[in-house]
Amino acid sequence: MSQTVYPFGGNAKSDDPRAKDKTIVGGKGANLAEMAEIGLPVPPGFTITTEECLDYLEHGADPSTELRAGFAEKLRHDVTSALGHIEATVGKRLGDKDDPLLVSVRSGAAISMPGMMDTVLNLGLNDETVEGLAQVSGDERFAWDSYRRFIQMYSDVVLGIDHGLFEEALEIAKEDKDLYADTEMSAEEWKELVAEYKQIAADERGGEPFPQDVTEQLWGAIRAVFDSWDSERAKIYRRLNDIPHDMGTAVNVQAMVFGNMGDTSATGVAFTRDPATGEKSYYGEFLINAQGEDVVAGIRTPQYLTKAAREAAGADKPSMEEAMPEAYAELARVFDLLEQHYRDMQDIEFTVERGHLWMLQTRTGKRTAKAALKLAVDMADEGLIDEKTAILRVDPMALDQLLHPTLDPDAPRDVLTTGLPASPGAAAGKIVLDADTAEQWAGRGESVILVRVETSPEDIHGMHAATGILTARGGMTSHAAVVARGMGRPCVSGASAVVIDRAKRLLKIGSRDLKEGDLITLDGAKGQVMAGEVATIEPELAGDFGTLMEWADKHRRMRVRTNAETPNDCRMARQFGAEGIGLCRTEHMFFDAGRISAVREMILADDENGRRAALDKLLPEQRKDFHEIFEVMKGLSCTIRLLDPPLHEFLPHGDAEFEDLAATTGHSVEHLKRRAGELHEFNPMLGHRGCRLGITYPEIYEMQARAIFEAACDVKAASGEAPLPEVMIPLVVTRRELEILRALVERVAGDVFGEKGTVVDYLVGTMIELPRAALMAGEIAEEARFFSFGTNDLTQTTLGVSRDDASRFLGPYVDRGIFARDPFVSLDIDGVGQLVTMAAERGRATRGDIKLGICGEHGGDPASIRFCEETGLDYVSASPYRVPIARLAAAQASLGK
Ligand code: PEP
Ligand code: MG
Repeated sequence: MSQTVYPFGGNAKSDDPRAKDKTIVGGKGANLAEMAEIGLPVPPGFTITTEECLDYLEHGADPSTELRAGFAEKLRHDVTSALGHIEATVGKRLGDKDDPLLVSVRSGAAISMPGMMDTVLNLGLNDETVEGLAQVSGDERFAWDSYRRFIQMYSDVVLGIDHGLFEEALEIAKEDKDLYADTEMSAEEWKELVAEYKQIAADERGGEPFPQDVTEQLWGAIRAVFDSWDSERAKIYRRLNDIPHDMGTAVNVQAMVFGNMGDTSATGVAFTRDPATGEKSYYGEFLINAQGEDVVAGIRTPQYLTKAAREAAGADKPSMEEAMPEAYAELARVFDLLEQHYRDMQDIEFTVERGHLWMLQTRTGKRTAKAALKLAVDMADEGLIDEKTAILRVDPMALDQLLHPTLDPDAPRDVLTTGLPASPGAAAGKIVLDADTAEQWAGRGESVILVRVETSPEDIHGMHAATGILTARGGMTSHAAVVARGMGRPCVSGASAVVIDRAKRLLKIGSRDLKEGDLITLDGAKGQVMAGEVATIEPELAGDFGTLMEWADKHRRMRVRTNAETPNDCRMARQFGAEGIGLCRTEHMFFDAGRISAVREMILADDENGRRAALDKLLPEQRKDFHEIFEVMKGLSCTIRLLDPPLHEFLPHGDAEFEDLAATTGHSVEHLKRRAGELHEFNPMLGHRGCRLGITYPEIYEMQARAIFEAACDVKAASGEAPLPEVMIPLVVTRRELEILRALVERVAGDVFGEKGTVVDYLVGTMIELPRAALMAGEIAEEARFFSFGTNDLTQTTLGVSRDDASRFLGPYVDRGIFARDPFVSLDIDGVGQLVTMAAERGRATRGDIKLGICGEHGGDPASIRFCEETGLDYVSASPYRVPIARLAAAQASLGK
C-alpha cells in the first residue's frame, strides 16, 4: 500500500520516488523535500498526498459527525506518526501547554496556483498554549499577536467566517486607542482583541466556541485545504491556465518559524533573478518583524532585498543587505545553490527567526515573456542549460506579449503618477473600478484598465478581462503583480497617489479627478500612469528574441507560413519569419471600398454577360493586389484561395447602399432587391459557396486565376524572381469538382503564359475542410498537388457545431470538461485529428510528394502544432502575429515536447 504521508526535514530521508513526485506530493512538497536533502535549512514537516485529497473530495466528510469523519483510517494513523517526526525534530509537542509546537498548513498542487488556495499559520495555539508560547519566547506581545492572527485565519479559511469582521474589530480597537500601525499594539491590547475575536467566532458559529482542541484544529485545516481545490476561484484559475481539474492538492504541514519575533526577525519573498526583465540580479522584498502573509497581502509596503534595488527605487528604508547582512549573505548562498540545483530561476519564500534563515518554499519562478527569453538565452550562454533546453523553456504563447506595440518613448506623456513597475508592457483603456465591470465592458469589446486598492483572488476574472491593472497598494510580489505577470497583463502596483471612491465611481490621482470610463495608459515597465492614450511603436525583434528564434529555426522540421491577404500583413509576417503564404483569402480583397460596388454588380447581374462586365472591372484590381503581395513574397510559396464565401455576404445592407448601387448599375432598387432576395439561403455555410461557385459561375474563378498568373509573370519580369503560386480550390468534396476546376486554372495559366511569353511554376490543390473530402482524400489527391487542412470548417462540420454560434455553449462545455479546450482554438485531436491523419495518409498513398499543410486557426496553436508535427505535415500557417509562436512551437514539437 502506498504511503499517504511523506515526512521531510530533520533526519527524514526517502528513497521512494513518490516523495519527490509533484503529482503525488505537489510542487511545494517535492521542493521542500529536495531542499532539505541538498542541505538547505528547511523546518521539518510532512506532506499529505494529492491522492488523499482526491479520495476525500470523492467521498467527502459526513457533516453530521465530527470533522475527522471524512478521512480514511490509514491517513489518520499516518498523520499522527508524521506529526511525531516534527515533534521529535523540533523537541516540542503540538498542544503542549508549556512549550507548544505550532505548525503551518498549506496547500500545494502539482502545478502552482499562486494565491488560489488556502493556508493556515500558527496552528496549535489555544487559550493555554498561548501562555506557554509567551513564556518560552519571552515575548508576550508576539504570542498574543500570533494567536489573534491564527483565530482570524482559521476562522476565515476553515470556519468560513468573513475576515472583514475581524479586520473591522482591529480597526476599531486601533482607533479607540489612537494607534496607527499594528506594530504599535501592546500585548495587553492583543489579548483584549483575542477575546473579541473569539466572541466573533462564537457568534458566527451560533454559540459554538472557537476550537481549542489542537487535533481538531489540525484536521479542520487539512480538510479546508482539500476543499480549497474545489473553490470557485481555484476552478477559474485552472480554466484560465489550462490546468486539469482532476489533480487535487497536497497538504504541507510544517513546523512554524517566526518572522515576527522582533527586529532580528523578518519574512520575505524573492526571486533568484528579476522575473520582470530576466536581469541577473537578486530580486525581492522583505518585512522586518512580520509573518509571510504580510508581504504578499500588500498591507505594509515591503522593503527591498538589495541595496542596489533600494537605491534604484529611491527608497529610504534599509534593504535586507544593509539591515541584516549575515542573513542576507546566507540567502545569497542559498540562491546560488538553488539555481545550480534546479537550473532555472527560483521563486522562494523565506523567514529569518532571530537572525537564523529558514527556507519555506522554492518553485520555478513565474516570469514575463521578456524575462523568459532573457533567462533562456542567458542560462544557455552561462552553460547552465543547453540550447535545446532553452528552446523548450519558453512558452510559445507568451511570445505574444512581446510582439505587440510598446509605448513610443518620444510620444508626449501626461504622467498622473508613478507606482511600481510590476508587470511590463503598455496598456491603454477605460478606467473600471471592479472586476465584474471589467468583465462586462471588455465583453462588449472595450479596452479596460482595472483599478483597485489591491487585488485578491476574487478579482481574477476582471484581471483577465482587463488590458492592464493598476493598484494603489502592494509591492512587486503582491497578488496583482504576480498574477499580472503570469497573465502577461501590464501592471502598475503600489501607486499610493491613487485614491478610489467606489461609491461615487471616482478616482483621484494627486490633484487630478477622473471617473470610471475615462481613458488612461499604463507603462508597466516604468510604473507610469498617464492620462489619455499614448502613442505606440512596433516591437523589437532582435536581441534575445532573435537569438532564440534562430535556435528554434535550427531545430524545427516544419515550415511556417502565414495567413495574410494584404501587402502590409505580408511584410509584417515576413519580419516575423514567415516562409510563405499558407492562405490568402481573396474574398477579403472584395470588400475594399473601391471595389465592393463592382463585386455587387457581379453578384446581382442577371446573366453571364452581366457578370463578365463586372469582373472585367475587378480584374485589374485583383492583379494589383497579387502583384504587391508577390513582390513581398518573391521566391516563396503563396497559397491563394479562390473565392470561398457565399455571395450574399457581399450584398448591400440597407436602402442607402441599394440606392448607391442602383445609381452605378442603372438598375432599379426594386430590381436589385428582388435579385438579392433570390440569393437568400437557409444555411449559407453549407450552401452555394466554395468551389460550387466556381462550378456554376466559372467566370469568377477565371478572372481570379488570370489575375494571379498575370501578376506572377509581371513580378518575374520586373524582378527576375517569381513567387510559387499555389492555387487553392475551397470546399471540394469530390475528385470531379477538382478535375473540372483544375482544368479551368490550367487553361487560364496557358493563355496568360502565351500572352506574356513567359511561364511561372505553379501548383493546383485543394483545402480539406469537409469530412467527405478527408474520407476521399486518396481519390482527390489524383487531382491535387497539395492539401491544406482547413480545420476551421473541418471542425465545424465534423462536430456539427457552428463556428459563428458556438460561443453560447462552448464556455459551459469547457467548464464541465465535455471539451478539454475550445475545439476552434485547439484542434480536437481525438476526433477531427483522425480525419486529418487519415487524409494525410490517403493523400500520400496516391501521390508520394503531395504537399501537406494546415491553414485553419489551429496552425498558430502550440498543441495543434505538435499534432501537425506528429502527422508529418510539411508546414503550418498562422496569422502574422502568431508566426513566431508557430516557429517556436514547431521547434518544440520537433524536439519532442
Ligand atoms: C478553414 O476553414 O479552416 C479556413 C482556413 O477557411 P476559413 O476560415 O476562411 O473558412
Ligand atoms: Mg473554410
